[in-house]
Amino acid sequence: MNRARLVIFNAALGPLDYRVPDGMHVEPGSVVVAPLGPRQIVGIVWEAERLPASEVPEAKLRPLIDVLPVPPLRAELRRLIEWTADYYCAPLAAVARMVLSSGGALRGPATMTEYRLSGGLPERLTPQRLAAIEALEGEQATIRELAGIAGVSEGVLRGLVNQGVLEPVLVDCDRPYPSARADFSVPVLNSAQEEVSKIIISAVEARQFAPFLLDGVTGSGKTEVYLEAVARTLEMGRQTLVLLPEIALTEAFLRRFEDRFGTPPVVWHSSLKSTERRRAWRAIAAGEAQVVVGARSALFLPYKNLGLIVVDEAHEVSFKQDDGVRYNARDVAVMRARFESIPVVLASATPALESLQMAESGVYQRLVLEDRYGGARLPTIDTIDLTEEKPERGRWLAPRLVAQMEERLARGEQSLLFLNRRGYAPLTLCRNCGFRFQCPNCTAWLVEHRLSRRLACHHCGHETPPPPACPECGEPDCLVACGPGVERIADEVAEILPEARVAVVTSDTITSPEKAVEFVARTEAGAIDVIVGTQLVTKGFHFPELTLVGVVDADLGLEGGDLRAAERTYQQIAQVAGRAGRGAKPGEVLIQTRHPTALVIAALAAGDRDAFYQAETDARRHAGAPPFGRWAAIIVSSEDEAEAREAANRIGDTRPHLEDVAILGPAPAPLALLRGRYRYRLLLNARRSAQVQDVIREWLAPQRLAPGVRVTIDIDPYSF
Ligand code: ADP
Ligand code: ZN
Repeated sequence: MNRARLVIFNAALGPLDYRVPDGMHVEPGSVVVAPLGPRQIVGIVWEAERLPASEVPEAKLRPLIDVLPVPPLRAELRRLIEWTADYYCAPLAAVARMVLSSGGALRGPATMTEYRLSGGLPERLTPQRLAAIEALEGEQATIRELAGIAGVSEGVLRGLVNQGVLEPVLVDCDRPYPSARADFSVPVLNSAQEEVSKIIISAVEARQFAPFLLDGVTGSGKTEVYLEAVARTLEMGRQTLVLLPEIALTEAFLRRFEDRFGTPPVVWHSSLKSTERRRAWRAIAAGEAQVVVGARSALFLPYKNLGLIVVDEAHEVSFKQDDGVRYNARDVAVMRARFESIPVVLASATPALESLQMAESGVYQRLVLEDRYGGARLPTIDTIDLTEEKPERGRWLAPRLVAQMEERLARGEQSLLFLNRRGYAPLTLCRNCGFRFQCPNCTAWLVEHRLSRRLACHHCGHETPPPPACPECGEPDCLVACGPGVERIADEVAEILPEARVAVVTSDTITSPEKAVEFVARTEAGAIDVIVGTQLVTKGFHFPELTLVGVVDADLGLEGGDLRAAERTYQQIAQVAGRAGRGAKPGEVLIQTRHPTALVIAALAAGDRDAFYQAETDARRHAGAPPFGRWAAIIVSSEDEAEAREAANRIGDTRPHLEDVAILGPAPAPLALLRGRYRYRLLLNARRSAQVQDVIREWLAPQRLAPGVRVTIDIDPYSF
């Protein structure tokens, strides 16, 4: 009889065995439906074999129900799933689930029904219905998705369907994407670009694993270079994956792609509608999606014929996933390229130290573009010592920065102010008793947002309107804002330069790709004089009239003693500086700081990247930190503080004593309370060669935990 071992989407259960009924064909990678208790579940066949009838008590194995009409997952992808589960100490099922993230949607026919407003009105127009109809203007999606958008139950919408207010639209998820053309609009590369692109293209042609670090200053034409490699991959009839960090801002990139290849790429990210998700997934599996531009989850799609992976802005912190399977997409991209035997390009103007070290040790090939394309010069960078050049009382912008902004405004040029803090003020207190507004679910202050009139937690999303009186002492109208956020800086600009047109650019204001397009269009049209933004504005934008960048508080990221604080500060400021002077006019950058002699700041001002990386490398080597040593974190959490502490202590008491792994803690985690869970942390610091995953698995496997306790493992954690 035939037996199949399935990985099913329940992380608590290991692989399960089933009987393959006569006449059903399955192979490793087949996606199947199987019974589990009274339910039906989707699973991936991990092993399939013919067993002698004697070996298994056949009656005990339940039969598979169905094979889904999608291509079996290829061996290369299954290897990636296994590697990811193993390296990040995650259940195989949890990784497999990411691969079939559209699992439910893969069942059934290729046609799905969406709904949209028909223009008619219901017989009885209740306030709820009216609100729903207003919210759904211009939307088309499944009933479940529309219910989410309108904030009403599916029942309310079904009522509207019955009355003809919402009309069905059939969506064919198998309709083809237009073909991209490698020769649609071919650029003329300069000689440095030509040289570098030739190297990548020969690797594409060779169909071999080849990791590249494409290291070029901002505006040097890295994108143009890798698009030529994409073109060659297209010509060879193979697929390309381009990973991008911030999906909200890819619109400019998509347009660029369309200009180059005559059609936009296939897009993949977590907020796609189910019909889009299903269409993309099927086209990717069928090999019809030629180029996929996606967020990190696009790494786990079932490409039929992958020929190239590009990770753009490869240093970006957002490639590290921090819930569910805690993987680093940059590292997984390299592994996927290895399993697929294809080249991978990590592109950045400020590479991660880990990536530079890999290049140094000869594992990655470093390709350098030293100059900006087309003769544009890198901006001049200067510091403003805030202890000497003080802003006026109650203000945050120093006189010299303001004077420069005034000049830009007079010349019709644009300025950008960077502060990596959303909202109006990071801390709000009562002027009478000093009460501080804290999140009830997290160890964090509530941040005042004036544009939306609320106090919000940036960790769990908790929000509340600003209260009319202090909850502690009852003083009315008592709130004082402490410190600046981007909204407050925008207010200050409006006061100082009343005629300037100011745009605040954060995830609060750029909430959709459409908003991003609108912002880019307005800036390009010269309808904005001053942009005030968070890290959202540090990358990707190319505004030729933008000639001044002001860093409002360069010291912000250096607080907190985070391992990567210096590197991240360097990258952010270098990236945002790279927005200045990209066209014919030269750019200038002013960095406000209280520590102008700090190594990071001094290196930025001197334009001496090597000095910074060298010092940082030495510090990391000394601390046994990545890439020279390895860190891993074990987080023990519970809604009950004592339960979390006791569980962490009990795990701590059974710690192994090893020569090449030091184990620190348990201690309260940096966010000791997060989303209502108390968190304790054990930190492992290991030699590079240590098998830290095996150590953790052996250590944790015998632990019996109370039902409310959760243990999370974070290999190569980013922040601690
Ligand atoms: P990077 O990705 O390194 O920041 P880009 O590829 O975005 O740089 O290039 C910077 C600017 O120069 C863009 O406006 C781009 O269109 C232009 N550019 C770069 N290379 C070429 C080329 N070979 N021909 C025409 N324009 C180019
Ligand atoms: Zn919170």
